[in-house]
Amino acid sequence: MSKAPVIPDSAPFDTAQRIWLNGFLAGLFAHEPANVDGSAGSQDPVGTAPLSVVFGSQTGTAETLARRVAAEADRRGFRSRVIDAGAATKVDWAAETQLLVVMSTYGDGDMPDNARTFWDWLQTDAAKAMAHLRFSVLALGDSNYEQFCAAGKKVDERLEALGAARLHPRTDCDVDYEAAAKSWIDGALGALGTANSQNTTEPKLQSSAGPSRIPVEGYSRANPFPARMLVNRRLTGEGSGKEVRHIELSLEGSDLEYVVGDALGVRPTNCPTLVGELLTLLRCDGEEAVPIPGGGEVSLRKALGECYDISKPSPAFLKAAAELSPALRALLESDHKEELNSWLYGREIIDLLMQEPPWTVAPEAFVAVLKPLAPRLYSISSSPKAHPGQVHLTVGIVRNEIHGRSRKGVCSTFLADRVLDSVPVPVFVQKSHGFRLPDNPDTPIIMVGPGTGVAPFRAFLHERRATAAQGRNWLFFGEQRAAADFFYREELEPMLMSGHLTKLSTAFSRDQADKIYVQHRMLEEAPTLWAWLQEGAHFYVCGDAQRMAKDVEAALLRVIETAGGRSPEDSLAYLNQMRTEKRYQRDVY
Ligand code: NAP
Repeated sequence: MSKAPVIPDSAPFDTAQRIWLNGFLAGLFAHEPANVDGSAGSQDPVGTAPLSVVFGSQTGTAETLARRVAAEADRRGFRSRVIDAGAATKVDWAAETQLLVVMSTYGDGDMPDNARTFWDWLQTDAAKAMAHLRFSVLALGDSNYEQFCAAGKKVDERLEALGAARLHPRTDCDVDYEAAAKSWIDGALGALGTANSQNTTEPKLQSSAGPSRIPVEGYSRANPFPARMLVNRRLTGEGSGKEVRHIELSLEGSDLEYVVGDALGVRPTNCPTLVGELLTLLRCDGEEAVPIPGGGEVSLRKALGECYDISKPSPAFLKAAAELSPALRALLESDHKEELNSWLYGREIIDLLMQEPPWTVAPEAFVAVLKPLAPRLYSISSSPKAHPGQVHLTVGIVRNEIHGRSRKGVCSTFLADRVLDSVPVPVFVQKSHGFRLPDNPDTPIIMVGPGTGVAPFRAFLHERRATAAQGRNWLFFGEQRAAADFFYREELEPMLMSGHLTKLSTAFSRDQADKIYVQHRMLEEAPTLWAWLQEGAHFYVCGDAQRMAKDVEAALLRVIETAGGRSPEDSLAYLNQMRTEKRYQRDVY
């Protein structure tokens, strides 16, 4: 492979431009096709048996990875198929031998929506049909949550309890999963390939599709597209307690394609002021060379600005900080997680560095306990059919004052404040798993999207208008105050007038003494809502996972019970049936 040219420091670009040009060139040169004829010497032993790759995915990351696993498996001679966990209960497992599972966790250690029935089924006798399988699990999660990778861990343990043989240890991946996932793919496929070659006398097979190519990747999570910002407009008005912005980015010149329901990944950089403060506390000038995730060395200033998460303390950071802080040590050593969480609330890495006695730490030791800076995902709020060559986002900007310091959300303030004409926004498309408009354009849809949860529904409405879809559209939107927080009012009200939006139910929680939320509006409209459901409407929810999505689900069950005249058990069965038919879809975070 030829070496990528590098734009020198002396070239007439500012730092950000130079970084992205160099990234762009490195990407171009890194994506020369490899092993296009499947014959390169680095390939592992060729497998012989079919391989099932099951994924449980909430946002689409696990699904994307599962497809990557399958492509790599095929390249090594397996015959793989990718199976949505929602369909895994229908597989004749007695006829299968090898299983790889890619399972994400979301919320408080929950299974992703599409894996819920699979998980219930795993507890039944029918799951004994998996007892003879050889398997391995890749668990995805976020170590900032207590129940890190819980869903993958549970599936891994359950498969073992059923008697299945773990051929390769489970790997738990944090938000920046690339290196760990790659190593698991190599390890798991290597172990299965070795087992196959030991267990069979059959001739080695090629993939049923013949020698496969690794597709030449374009812009991706690893190689984001530097998008130009077109619009950065505040949606919240005077008197609002929030800052929410409408962002438009140009995708001109990229090969990025998306459909409504997808998310946009944004790779932010950190606030330079915070980087400067950390350097002062570390007594460094920023020129010290330090290692970065994925290999290589850069200056400490660049590493803190672009490569590491310098806001939220990682578990490794806390452990190291506890060496100097008896209070923190006591909390970490005790079993009082709530006390620890409450002490940590709002505290960032800089707060721990400012503790007494001062923390004297070498730059390499400091970055060794930081997590890589992960991209953030935003639900896309535009339709490519209505706005070709563009992508729109609806972003809540995080700024607050805690423990006497002002705090800034890394990516939201990057988009709001730090993207200038000369600074592009590095982006990639994250394909959604199961958050899609109905195939039939005549099918009615009900959308519940309070706050920034309205984003994908703006996209749905634009798409259905651009394609002249005839299905009825009902939006539930909630925010604090109608006067200041009615996002996209200037678009939604004309849509209502024209009849494109059949119904718009709003819940402004702070415009009266008692809180009114979207679920209250759903209950008020129970008979009509039930009628729409009976006519085959798809029901969508987007926004806060912790409280809103749970309350909306409870309200939906109540609607089915009261207006549909069903028992609580039958209502749950009705909802589960909707889920199976993909008529109940959620994009919650
Ligand atoms: P948001 O915080 O979801 O607020 C939108 C509207 O929903 C407000 O009117 C809010 O009312 C109301 N709301 C609050 N609790 C609710 C509930 N249980 N059920 C239904 N509606 C409820 O919107 P956002 O500021 O755009 O935030 C979007 C995202 O930020 C969320 O999806 C989440 O990821 C994150 N967030 C999470 C939390 C949390 O504690 N889990 C809190 C804020 C934001 P009031 O504000 O008047 O109560």
